[in-house]
Amino acid sequence: MIIVLRAGATEGDVRQVEETLRVKGLSAHISRGVERTIIGAIGDERKLDPELFEGLPAVEKVLRILSPFKLVSREFQKEDTVIDVNGRKIGGRAIALFAGPCSVEGKDMMVDIGGSVAACGATFLRGGAFKPRTSPYAFQGLGEEGLKHLAEARERTGLPVATELMDPRDLDLVARYADIIQIGARNMQNFRLLTEVGKLDKPVILKRGMSATIQELLMSAEYIASEGNRKIVLCERGIRTYETATRNTFDVSAFPVLKSLTHLPVIADPSHAAGKASLVEPLAAAAIAAGADGLMIEVHDRPEKALSDGPQSLRPETFGKVIERLRKVAEAVGRTL
Ligand code: PEP
Ligand code: MN
Repeated sequence: MIIVLRAGATEGDVRQVEETLRVKGLSAHISRGVERTIIGAIGDERKLDPELFEGLPAVEKVLRILSPFKLVSREFQKEDTVIDVNGRKIGGRAIALFAGPCSVEGKDMMVDIGGSVAACGATFLRGGAFKPRTSPYAFQGLGEEGLKHLAEARERTGLPVATELMDPRDLDLVARYADIIQIGARNMQNFRLLTEVGKLDKPVILKRGMSATIQELLMSAEYIASEGNRKIVLCERGIRTYETATRNTFDVSAFPVLKSLTHLPVIADPSHAAGKASLVEPLAAAAIAAGADGLMIEVHDRPEKALSDGPQSLRPETFGKVIERLRKVAEAVGRTL
């Protein structure tokens, strides 16, 4: 439920609504706009009768939100969320560009790749230090050492860094180094992890689970938002279907559908969807045309030697050319890249 207060409502009016919600076992999310204050009721709304608020003089209207996700819904917030990370934006007209290797494999490679992608216009650097691998025998990431290399690459390039958090026990460590925390596809419904990152004041990239519906993705985002963290970026990275020609099936309809249902920025990861370097560009072009607010592209200086996801990684020179071409697609749909 959303309770819209009249222009000129006082702090006392806000407290009154808050207290009424508290008595019913719910909490209030207060959003103070230039003209109006809007209060979102957080919790089990079944116990809530709109008449409780409709009678209050300071209340303009009471709206029931029909979707099961509330804070992240378009009904709750009409304007697009734009997340500012040290002056770089995610959401809005400019398309955010995350680039870097799948895994941080060492300091030099991280700094070198960071420099290359920065020169091509990347706005954020990516790299995994904790890797979710299907096999326990595969490279699991460098852990804290990898985080240090990422921090070094940030230092050299000036680009904020995004890296994956897999386990709440690593949260303090990862949060100390990362500018943006990535929740991977395999953890999209790790609700304890979502709750923990929800308590942070740090942007979170939430990747769509490989078998998750759009509604499930939004419910997971709601877990994060309900804890207080509204800096959420959704990421379509391909879903599992019967098709085996690609690693995953890129759900291009996710962009317009998500943009209609939520105010959160939505980015595309064509690398994990494709599984093949040659398919990254066409999928990225489709994503931009469909309304994606950003791209996440894996780049490696020696893909044939990469410790993870080599086949889908672009060489820095290829990445540069791909971005040049994608810029035209972005311009054609009124965006910049
Ligand atoms: C990654 O970004 O390297 C990754 C593991 O992605 P996903 O969680 O989408 O598989
Ligand atoms: Mn990867």
